[in-house]
Amino acid sequence: MAKGPRPLQEMAALQANPRTSSTLISESARRPSPRRPPVRVRCSATPSPPRSYRITLLPGDGIGPEVVSVAKDVLYLAGSLEGIEFRFREVPVGGAALDATGVPLPEETLTTAKESDAVLLGAIGGYKWDANEKHLKPETGLLQLRAGLGVFANLRPATVLPQLVDASTLKKEVAEGVDIMVVRELTGGIYFGKPRGFGSNDKGEDIGFNTEIYSVPEIDRIARVAFEVARKRRGKLCSVDKANVLEASMLWRKTVTALASEFSDVEISHMYVDNAAMQLIRNPKQFDTIVTNNIFGDILSDEASMLTGSIGMLPSASIGASGPGLFEPIHGSAPDIAGQDKANPLATVLSAAMLLRYGLGEEQAAKRIEDAVINTLNKGFRTGDIFSEGTTLVGCKRMGAEVLKSVDSQATVAAALH
Ligand code: NAD
Repeated sequence: MAKGPRPLQEMAALQANPRTSSTLISESARRPSPRRPPVRVRCSATPSPPRSYRITLLPGDGIGPEVVSVAKDVLYLAGSLEGIEFRFREVPVGGAALDATGVPLPEETLTTAKESDAVLLGAIGGYKWDANEKHLKPETGLLQLRAGLGVFANLRPATVLPQLVDASTLKKEVAEGVDIMVVRELTGGIYFGKPRGFGSNDKGEDIGFNTEIYSVPEIDRIARVAFEVARKRRGKLCSVDKANVLEASMLWRKTVTALASEFSDVEISHMYVDNAAMQLIRNPKQFDTIVTNNIFGDILSDEASMLTGSIGMLPSASIGASGPGLFEPIHGSAPDIAGQDKANPLATVLSAAMLLRYGLGEEQAAKRIEDAVINTLNKGFRTGDIFSEGTTLVGCKRMGAEVLKSVDSQATVAAALH
């Protein structure tokens, strides 16, 4: 499949509000950013069959293989109903790759991922590799993968679904209607900054150190994505930093503030990260779109996910300026429940829907998956993490089977109508 420049801003806008995607595409196409050349939009309301895509599957560790297996089946079925053909290639990453090849991101895995049209990842990590040296940790493989694919923008929706409002740990009136998008910078900051390492201080004591570092272009490009996202949502962007203490945050705030004049239709605000952590619990509905650096985004997006009731429900998309996007649930490998058929596969299933929409421009197939998930929840099926009284407790496989049944019933209904 030939690949052109990834329509980053359009995808970001779509991510912001998929329900109005076709409108957003045409609006974006008519109004390209002044600093960027107009970009090719892959999304199409009526794509012409047959379409064939190469999908790299990275099941990873722990519950990763369980949830990716479900998502692959759902992706296959939803795609086939839209005349889409997938060629899946499964390669190891993380602990699985360490066991098989001795490194957490084998060359073949990265090459396969880069040559595909989209990448679907489960999760990596586990107790077994916790004591490994840094360069032999599963997490290192994930960081290398993100950097290798050049995906610098991570978009994480945190939406409280009406069916799951009771699963939130917050009071119903606080959680109800929460709809936040966290835009996290993914390839810079303290997770990558140098110098880093271990040493000793003046007193001869052992120390560990890392460097929080951002350049203006790095901040500018992630802030542009966030402004575009906010513009297509409710027009509110909150930039989160620690500019009262950290120089990198002072530059972050200055750069975001300077950019704001190009997006006069977006209401910009700034918040220190400690306050943001508190406000997310106190009054989450005040937030629309949040943009922040790598480490703050890591923490705040997990916190935002808990507002929704379960980390097992939340998908994410990581996109770059070109090449395949990386689609993955926000949860980790959950070693405490791995291999027990207890994992909630819906975050990965919804990641597959994002892959279709933002990675391949296959809106109809994406919608089939999302509708099937809602339908399955409406029928009352719940995995343990989102279970509440009066609903039906199911495992990972059964939840997958129910989603498949719902996708399938769409085909039956469609057939009956023709
Ligand atoms: P985790 O997300 O794996 O688990 C946190 C809690 O949420 C656990 O109680 C777990 O059982 C539960 N949970 C997570 N996903 C679930 C699902 N789909 N269904 C039901 N319950 C679910 O985070 P952790 O425990 O901090 O980390 C475990 C391992 O995962 C570590 O090795 C960590 O490095 C790794 N990790 C990987 C990623 C990734 O692959 N992107 C992200 C975070 C953590």
